[in-house]
Amino acid sequence: MRPKCMIRLMKMRRCQNGIANQSMVMKVMRRLSQRLPSKPLTGECLRLGRTTSFLHIRTLIVQSQNKPISNPGFPSSNPAFNANFITASRGFSSPSTVINPSSWLGGLVKKKKVIDLPCIVKAGDPALHQPAREVSLEEIGSDRIQKIIDDMVQVMRRRPGVGLAAPQIGIPLKIIVLEDLKEYIAHAPEEENKAQDRRPFDLLVILNPILRKKSNKSAFFYEGCLSVDGYRAMVERFVEVEVRGLGRDGKPMKVDACGWKARILQHECDHLEGTLYVDKMVKRTFRTIENLDLPLANGCPKLGVR
Ligand SMILES: [Zn+2]
Repeated sequence: MRPKCMIRLMKMRRCQNGIANQSMVMKVMRRLSQRLPSKPLTGECLRLGRTTSFLHIRTLIVQSQNKPISNPGFPSSNPAFNANFITASRGFSSPSTVINPSSWLGGLVKKKKVIDLPCIVKAGDPALHQPAREVSLEEIGSDRIQKIIDDMVQVMRRRPGVGLAAPQIGIPLKIIVLEDLKEYIAHAPEEENKAQDRRPFDLLVILNPILRKKSNKSAFFYEGCLSVDGYRAMVERFVEVEVRGLGRDGKPMKVDACGWKARILQHECDHLEGTLYVDKMVKRTFRTIENLDLPLANGCPKLGVR
């Protein structure tokens, strides 16, 4: 809710044929600044409380109205993006800004739109290690579940990433979203996309997914995770899987996937069991994104399909 003095300030700015009474504006701004917390909030998520054992974490983001929502600005030479299906936040420009009190005020003055989106829960948070529960049929059509899905899609696209599970935004429910776009894939070398069998696919929203391997064929490739920023490791995954679940409309759905799409599905379904890729990785391949192109240590499996 907007503070009363803020509303008053906005009203004053509209008065007198658009000419604000400067002294009154300054007075209200001084009063407003006295009410704001002295500690800057930059880079911090706003924790609004616990209604379950999971933390509900949200952050305020200012979105300039005259900029496109998705403009990831991938640097073509970024090795982290080239080699991994989930991108690094480092080095990527974003039109959004986590705001502090002064920029919040500044945002209003510049008529920016304020968007309230969840933060991504990071490694170390117990929320990532608890199994999620199924969404009941009665719940699916509710505003709450539909809002969670919308938030997840926005958070995934904003980073950008190619998949997100509800526990990653502090919601212990079996919901995953994923998509891989042409423009993401275009930044990786062609031979790499071929080796990974990586092809674009449209947005998928799956509730209560049940994953089944379709063959024993597996592959080793590097993975990253939005909850484990800045690191990558090789993980063995099945090459062909089938996922059954419900769509956001509550209707049963089935997805047959191979290659990279199958990997993303396995990664996201693991999140719903409280498992991170680091629980399954080939430990000696764990590395920072800066070291991604360095040779593998002795004894590590080779990249590729087995
Ligand atoms: Zn992940």
